[in-house]
Amino acid sequence: MPRDAADTLVVLSNRLPITLRRERGTLRAEASSGGLVSALRPALHRQGGTWIGWPGTQLKAGERLPAVDPAVELVPVPLSPTEVKRYYHGFSNRTLWPLFHSLPERAVFDRREWESYELVNHRFADAAEEACRRGQLVWIHDYHLLRTAAPLRERVPAARLAFFLHIPFPPFDLFRLLPWSRAVLEGVLACDLLGFHSPGYVRNFLDAAERLLGARVDHRVGQVELGDHTTRVAAFPLGIDYGAYEKLAHGAPRKTPAERVILGVDRLDYTKGIPERILAFERFLELYPEHRERVVLIQLAVPSRDQVQAYQEQKRSIDEHVGRVNGRFGTSTWTPIRYLYRSVPPERLSALYRDADVALVTPLRDGMNLVAKEYVACQVDEPGVLVLSRLAGAAETMREALQVNPYDTDSVAERLHQALTMPEEDRRDRIAAPQARERRRNVNQWLDGFLSAALEPRKRFRPTTEAEFDAWLGDYLRTRDLALFLDYDGTLAPIVERPDEAAIPADTLDALRRCAARDDTDVTIVSGRGIGDIGARVAVDGITYAGNHGLEIQGPGVPDFVHTDVRHFQDEAASLAKALRALRVRGALVEEKGASLTFHYRRVAKPQWPDAVARAEACILEAGFQVRAALCAIEARPPIGWDKGHAVLHILRTRYGPAWSQRLRVIYAGDDSTDEDAFRSLQGLGMSFRVGGATSSTRATRRLASPEAICTLLEWLAARPPVADAAPR
Ligand code: UDP
Repeated sequence: MPRDAADTLVVLSNRLPITLRRERGTLRAEASSGGLVSALRPALHRQGGTWIGWPGTQLKAGERLPAVDPAVELVPVPLSPTEVKRYYHGFSNRTLWPLFHSLPERAVFDRREWESYELVNHRFADAAEEACRRGQLVWIHDYHLLRTAAPLRERVPAARLAFFLHIPFPPFDLFRLLPWSRAVLEGVLACDLLGFHSPGYVRNFLDAAERLLGARVDHRVGQVELGDHTTRVAAFPLGIDYGAYEKLAHGAPRKTPAERVILGVDRLDYTKGIPERILAFERFLELYPEHRERVVLIQLAVPSRDQVQAYQEQKRSIDEHVGRVNGRFGTSTWTPIRYLYRSVPPERLSALYRDADVALVTPLRDGMNLVAKEYVACQVDEPGVLVLSRLAGAAETMREALQVNPYDTDSVAERLHQALTMPEEDRRDRIAAPQARERRRNVNQWLDGFLSAALEPRKRFRPTTEAEFDAWLGDYLRTRDLALFLDYDGTLAPIVERPDEAAIPADTLDALRRCAARDDTDVTIVSGRGIGDIGARVAVDGITYAGNHGLEIQGPGVPDFVHTDVRHFQDEAASLAKALRALRVRGALVEEKGASLTFHYRRVAKPQWPDAVARAEACILEAGFQVRAALCAIEARPPIGWDKGHAVLHILRTRYGPAWSQRLRVIYAGDDSTDEDAFRSLQGLGMSFRVGGATSSTRATRRLASPEAICTLLEWLAARPPVADAAPR
């Protein structure tokens, strides 16, 4: 078994590719069928790998899964009955499924279901962590696991992670209805590659990442930069096992049908538009009576999610529609709709496809729709006609089909008539190109294409340019003065091992000086450092400083400020510093900053980090101070209800008066969780930038990769044209 080889593939999907049965207490596994599973199985077998997923049933304690392929390790992720209800039937199928299929009125938004989804997604990450360290590539599948990549990336930063979404990605305006939309985007953007069925879904995703997260997006090459991580986003339209369907169609027994056949084949799902299709067929019989008693609609509906209420209702609705049409138009010798509520084996299905004069594939929305492709592959005799919904992913490439809007009953009826009366020559013209295309772009080609893209060397997003700042800020700053707030460590100065060695690079400092020298720009440095320290490090004329997370403020136009509670906590902070040093953590540094302090553990040996953090936190909490996580450091802050956000608003009000928000523009850039307080205070009042590679959410308007982008920002700000018509100050 090549299990420990570095080139193994790790697949994560909601379900393992097996069906389990218990026979007299013994667990038996049967390999599942289906296009994707059949395509992935040989690839996994070839290179060896691990498949991680829910076994679909409760396993007994210590029970192992029976092996189906010795080269593929199956790792079960257990789900409790409540989790099946909330994560699977709930958030996955009652929230994401309808919303992503652009049917928002069917979507339910329930916080408990979201929490269960989050928990289960983290459990998948736990289950995958070990395999992920060994494997060459982790491939996560579908809408059930949108939040798995982020925790996996945190634990295995160097992992190669890829994701494929098998359903549509909705337009921004619908996607943002999801209360957890940002978390979902951040979840998948931890991957190196994101794959969708069609370029339309790629556009929707890029749009959402740009507008909801403030991520940098390159629409042309399909890249998203979130913090310091770059993700490639591309379309990989799924294909079918073309040869297998073609062979089945050739081999299936032939008999001459009594009527001409219109065929519908679907899982029974409200996205498939079956009631709407029956209405269109009814309209067709009304408009074109010449087809009565000569044409039959065979509708195959495969039972699906039948415990879910919406699906039960859909079934009732179909039953009613079928009954009505058959009652209205049927005769003693002719039943217009033949409705089968079951699944049929591939041999029979391929014969149905082959012998159908028309395939009526009219989903209200569909990620791809494989039925359309299978129908095309099975046209081995005199070809039929494909009538295809424009709202199926397949329509993006199957241009030769008669495309319809499934909601437009009259036009579907007209298209049906057109299909049934189309001369053979025309039908051949319309089938030849899609047949050649689907034969070429089959499921194996899809698999190879995705896997090789996932393993390509990573390409970083190009550095942020001044032109981008011009696009983001040009109009914003055109007519008003600017109050610019900048954090120091990690924003102006790159993070270094020892905090006392942090310094602003020469070109950044030069640009900062030029910004500060402008009449229309006031600069404030907002730092966790003490005010003396930060003032000495920056040392630029005319700048305001807010030290100790804003507890102390000094600068032109602002009266010197020290929060009233600071003095009270100074002695206590000194005692706390002593207590922290007494912990004798090797490599740790205690930085005293008056009423607050920082415990730096960057130089502590990494395996000791959790212990060092736990001991320092306990010590800080014992002293009655607040703990705040920073980059490789813990801030101990006096319990004063004051943070960088309060400081920024205080400066704006005292310096520019109560109407400050109408007189000037505000930009804030920072890199860590203490800056989030300022981002929150400025939401809707200013523009903000979060610098660096945080995987957690931010309130900032946009994200930037590194302090180098801050240098570019400052250069653009320093060189921007003067304010056109400055408001009086
Ligand atoms: N199918 C099946 N048994 C049936 C009818 C259909 O296995 O009785 C298969 C069909 O061959 C196709 C799949 O179900 O491969 C449906 O795929 P599609 O992309 O059209 O829709 P989905 O069900 O994935 O939403």
